[in-house]
Amino acid sequence: MQIKVGKYSGFCGGVKRSVLNAEESLNNSDVVYCYGELVHNKQVINSLTAKGLKVIEDINEAEDGSKVIFRAHGVEKKIYEIAEKKNLNIVDLTCPNVLKIHEKAKKLVEDGYFIILIAQVSHPETIGTISFCGDNCFILENSDMILDLENKIKESKCKRIAVITQTTISVDRYNELIDIIKEKFSLYELNIDNNICDATNLRQQEMKELSKEVDAVIVIGGKNSSNTKKLYDIGVRNCSKCFLIETVDDLTDDIFKYERIGIMGGASTPRSSVDEVMSRLNK
Ligand code: SF4
Repeated sequence: MQIKVGKYSGFCGGVKRSVLNAEESLNNSDVVYCYGELVHNKQVINSLTAKGLKVIEDINEAEDGSKVIFRAHGVEKKIYEIAEKKNLNIVDLTCPNVLKIHEKAKKLVEDGYFIILIAQVSHPETIGTISFCGDNCFILENSDMILDLENKIKESKCKRIAVITQTTISVDRYNELIDIIKEKFSLYELNIDNNICDATNLRQQEMKELSKEVDAVIVIGGKNSSNTKKLYDIGVRNCSKCFLIETVDDLTDDIFKYERIGIMGGASTPRSSVDEVMSRLNK
């Protein structure tokens, strides 16, 4: 059996920073809350909660003045406002790439743009980013939503349209939607930005190449992780067999039918999960 591991497998810079800082906060305080899951990986969350991290879904669950971590995906504008009122000790671990998009959105609102956010509607990063986009905005997840988008833009009476994106959307989906936007809104002033982060770009590119070179490819990552799901989709398109697993325990003996195997970990997958899969294959 030949095994090839994607060199971009494992934590991206933003996730590494979040996990290290969360661990440091836990060492220095008795009670540390995290607003939402720090990253989309069950094993990482279990390890942090075992060290005392309390994950809350409602910011009001944190006592006034307590320490609260904001996750890598970022949070909504109103959460910053509530945190200030409650005098919370915020450890803002929002990835700098996401913070940059929030700043850009604020500027676009000031400049009178209608903002199209190309993103997954229900993803926490999207919920955070859209809250900085003012009243004239729309989350565009797929081409079926174009008619609704056209109506919303007409109603807004805006003459300028800006496009920003979620950091982890698929490059192919972005290209498809940008082509449609350029065609549909050619009479508007268009300001298009691609905010897919380098970690996502490089990983998706590597996944495409890797999955063409092997007989089966294993993607390791949280089932609720957006970037992991995109890697899996790329694997399915480019390889005859693609497995999506959270941990080595999900791997079945089916895998031993294949000679050349590729392994790719998502951006919130610890390197240890990749190593465990390799050990199992090498047994
Ligand atoms: S995937 Fe990109 S934007 Fe998201 S945390 Fe990692 S580096 Fe930051």
